[in-house]
Parts: sequence; structure tokens; C-alpha cells
Amino acid sequence: MGNVVVIGAGIAGIQAALDIAGHGIHVDLIEREPSIGGHMAQLDKTFPTNDCSMCILSPKMVDVARHPRITIHTCTDVESIDGEVGHFRVILKKHPRYIDESTCTGCGDCIQICPVEVYNRFDAGIGVRKAIYKPHPQVVPDLVIKDPEHCIECGLCYDICGPGSVLHEDKEKTFEIRAASILITTGYAVFDAGKKSQFGHLILPDVITSLELERMINASGPTGGKIRRLSDGKSPESILFIQCVGSRDMTIGRPWCSCVCCMQALKNAMLIKEKNPQMEIIICYIDIRSYGKGYEEYFERAKALGIRFLRGMPSDVLADRNGMTVQVENSENGEVQVIHPGLVVLSVGMGPANGTSSIADRFNIPVEESGFIRPANDAVDTVGTIRPGIYVAGAVTAPKDIPDSVASGESAAMRAYIDAVRTRSA
Ligand code: SF4
Ligand code: SF4
Ligand code: SF4
Repeated sequence: MGNVVVIGAGIAGIQAALDIAGHGIHVDLIEREPSIGGHMAQLDKTFPTNDCSMCILSPKMVDVARHPRITIHTCTDVESIDGEVGHFRVILKKHPRYIDESTCTGCGDCIQICPVEVYNRFDAGIGVRKAIYKPHPQVVPDLVIKDPEHCIECGLCYDICGPGSVLHEDKEKTFEIRAASILITTGYAVFDAGKKSQFGHLILPDVITSLELERMINASGPTGGKIRRLSDGKSPESILFIQCVGSRDMTIGRPWCSCVCCMQALKNAMLIKEKNPQMEIIICYIDIRSYGKGYEEYFERAKALGIRFLRGMPSDVLADRNGMTVQVENSENGEVQVIHPGLVVLSVGMGPANGTSSIADRFNIPVEESGFIRPANDAVDTVGTIRPGIYVAGAVTAPKDIPDSVASGESAAMRAYIDAVRTRSA
């Protein structure tokens, strides 16, 4: 007894696990994906410092993997919990990886030889992976996973694998762990841009989301860091960002601001402009929300670089003989402007992660109308819940940027740690 369970291994969960384990308490870190890291692993740079996202995250992922007091459980979901603070019983379900985790070395020979290519969810739809794969090169733990839906059982990976780690059969396993306290850090999901079909995502090839742009800008992403139109593989002469897609929108029941997408658009626009000074970049916005430390200065830098800001929300993106046409009324002067962008980037908002309400049900804690988990008190207890011993951190309660996610992970870790120590000394 006296352990802590952290559910969700994005940046908030990783930081919390390291903090708790660093103070001598064992942590079971639960992640439903094949690798820890969460959405931060998909990002290219972080604002406002423009540090490489993986350069910050990857050492923390490795520290988690090496830590003697952290056990990582990937491909794992929470089935149920019962008990109370100090004495929780958590039932976990581990989904099949079709790989012997105790012998796979992560060498990647099986990936090289696999003949099947399918869309890679990690690359947000613009890259491919094999039927046996790592979602990205820096996965932790360093293991492959076989996808039975797309595997054609050609047998090549079985033959090439020296340790014989590829399994024909693998089953779900249910197991139980005990915990003094629990942290829920299951994060967020990006808005499905298809729900605003007037903007043409998945209809027009040169309309992409901000997450797809992150993968495109990333030097280790599917285009090797080059900005390309998906229609013809060429570099666009102009890019139009449309802000607040899936946020601040009562028509689809998402009235909240997603906090990060203004800064994310500024960051990506600046990164592109610095490499392609000739490229015209316009950001259509309702408001630019640059509220954090150094964020307003960042906005000023973007303007100084020549990025254009147009206050107004386009109603749609149309395909015509000009390629794409976007009309927008400038709400500062009432003029209607007609733009023919080479590439459109939809700045998609943050919403509750899939499965958030079922996790909340299992833990018997409430969710808000938005679908995010309700913390104990939005003013003075943002990491507690109505249940003693169960804490929340990161974007599971509301959209948050990376600095705020890390801070809430650290704060929740301290609360969970105190419960664990009290349990040990009781
Ligand atoms: Fe290498 Fe075998 Fe693991 Fe594939 S399954 S990465 S070939 S050890
Ligand atoms: Fe790929 Fe399946 Fe063939 Fe292995 S057996 S190489 S996973 S298609
Ligand atoms: Fe809109 Fe900016 Fe808020 Fe995102 S951060 S929802 S783009 S105002």
C-alpha cells in the first residue's frame, strides 16, 4: 500500500509521476496508447520559447522508463475502481500488443520488412505507418505493436525477428493494483474539423488542421519539415489560418476558448515565415488571446515578421477555378476581403478526450456540460475532486497549454504524495 496510480501519460501525467517517484513513492503510470508522451509528442515547437517539443519531452519520457519506482503500463485502460483514499483497488485491462514485451528490442527490422502501409493516426492523417509499427521513432517503451486489423499475416515479421517476439495470438489481460491515491491526467481530444464541413476539411485536399500542420512542420514528420500542398506536393505561395474552429461556437455546443490555438497559430506562422519570407501568411481571428508570460511580446514579433492579421471569421472555404476562395468581412472596417490561399489551416480547438465521461463514471466524479471533468473548485481547488484521494491535472478539466499542464501535474502530484505518505504512516 502507499502507491500512487497516474492514469494518462501525457506531459501532466509524466511530470506528476516523476515528482511522486522522486519522493520515494512507487507510481503505476497507465496509458492506453502504445507509447507514453501524449499530444506533446506530436508537436514541433513549444511557445513562447520555440523550444523543440520532443527535446523537452523525450528526456522526461526516458527518465520515466528508467525510474526504479515507476512502472509503465501501456495499451492499458481502467476497468473499474473501488475503495477510498489510502485503499483504492484499481482493475486494469491490458489490450493485446501481439508482441512479447519482455524480449522485443525495438530494433525495427519487422517494420522495414512489413509490406502493408496504412494511415498513421500519430501523423494526423498525412503520414503512413506499417501494419507492425512504432507510432513515432522516440516511443517509450521502445517496442513495436502489431495491428491485427491491417495485418495480412504474410509471415515476414515472424521470420525476421531474431528473438521471436512477434506473437500470432495475444489476449486481453485483466489485473489489479492497489493505490493510496489516484491522479487522472487523460488529457484532451482535438476538434474533429469535419463537423464544420463548410471549411472543407477532408473534402478539399489543401485544407488541413493545426495538428496536421504541426506534423508537417516537424523535421521528423511525414514531409520532413517541408510545407506542402497535399493536392500537388508543391509549396504554397500563401497560407490562411482560420482561428476558433470548434471553439467559441454556440452552434455546435462548444462555447469555450481553447486557450492554446491563438499562440499555436502565431508560433507556426512565425516558423514558416522565418523559413519562407516570401510566403504570404494571413491569420483570420475573432480575438488574439495572448494572455501568458511573454505571449503578448510573441504576438508583436509575429506582426513585425510581416504576418497579416485580419479580424473576421470566414463563413466557408470554396473550391473554384482560382483553387480556393475565402471571403471574410473585416470587422474592424466592414470591408469584405476575398482571399485565394494556397493552403488553409484550421486552428482546431480542444475538447474532452474520448472516454472522459466513462472514466468519470467509473470514479464517481462529475463532468461538466462541456464534457471535461469537474474539479473540486474552479477557484481554490483545481486539482482536487469531490472524492478524497482522487486528483485531476492537465487538460482533463479544461483546455490548458503546456506550462499550465505541467504546473497542475506538479500540484496534483504533491496532493497524491501526501495521501501516500499518510497511508504509509497510518
Ligand atoms: Fe525487432 Fe522483433 Fe521487436 Fe520487431 S518484434 S522490433 S524485429 S525485436
Ligand atoms: Fe506486416 Fe502482418 Fe506481414 Fe507482419 S505478418 S510483416 S505485421 S503484414
Ligand atoms: Fe479562438 Fe484563440 Fe481561443 Fe483558440 S485560443 S479558441 S483560436 S480565441
